[in-house]
Amino acid sequence: MRVSILQQLAPFGARLVAVSKTQSIEKILMMYNQGQRIFGENRVQEIMEKKDSLPPDIEWHLIGHLQRNKVKYIAPFISMIHSVDTLDLAHEINKQAEKWHRTIPVLLQIRIALEETKFGIEITSLEDFMNQIMADPMQNLKVCGVMGMASFVDDQDQIKREFRTLKQIFDNLKSKYYAEDSAFKEISMGMSDDYLLALKEGSTLVRIGTLLFGPRS
Ligand SMILES: *Cc1c(COP(=O)(O)O)cnc(C)c1O
Repeated sequence: MRVSILQQLAPFGARLVAVSKTQSIEKILMMYNQGQRIFGENRVQEIMEKKDSLPPDIEWHLIGHLQRNKVKYIAPFISMIHSVDTLDLAHEINKQAEKWHRTIPVLLQIRIALEETKFGIEITSLEDFMNQIMADPMQNLKVCGVMGMASFVDDQDQIKREFRTLKQIFDNLKSKYYAEDSAFKEISMGMSDDYLLALKEGSTLVRIGTLLFGPRS
């Protein structure tokens, strides 16, 4: 399964985040032994429980909602945080990263879904958010791109429109704020059910769980 997904990603130059939430150490290790290095989890506690039983060269990505008071646990090792959606959270990541003399790569989570339930920066507040980021640069936090989740609907056109919106937002941010910054290059979008659409719309990081590991318990 993993190899066929990788073959689909290759022409797009996109990378695979293997979403291992609720999956066992054994299953993660099997995936690791096939060469997978980037694993995504959505809960801090679960990463902390798993990581010491797994090889140290795994790149852990936090893909779910992150509470400020939990940043300190993952700051020493996290490879990327996909879910930055408030300035307070960004400042806390910066502060904790500084303690470990690290720079933590992050993505800005944008609310692209029409559904009401999702986290993420509202598109209408994005300019304000960026102005504040630019006014007060954080040395230990590196904004590397954007992340979004499409609505949980069957309507492929709607999903496509939402992904297209995220790509446009990425392009706008790139030209306006990050034109000279080669690190600003990631568009994290696409899950098991919609990653092919996401790739066509410009995804650089697909977050796939169920399709790789089978259903979650
Ligand atoms: C669980 C999860 C995924 C993966 O979902 P699948 O449908 O199992 O591929 C991707 N992104 C986020 C933020 C998730 O929480």
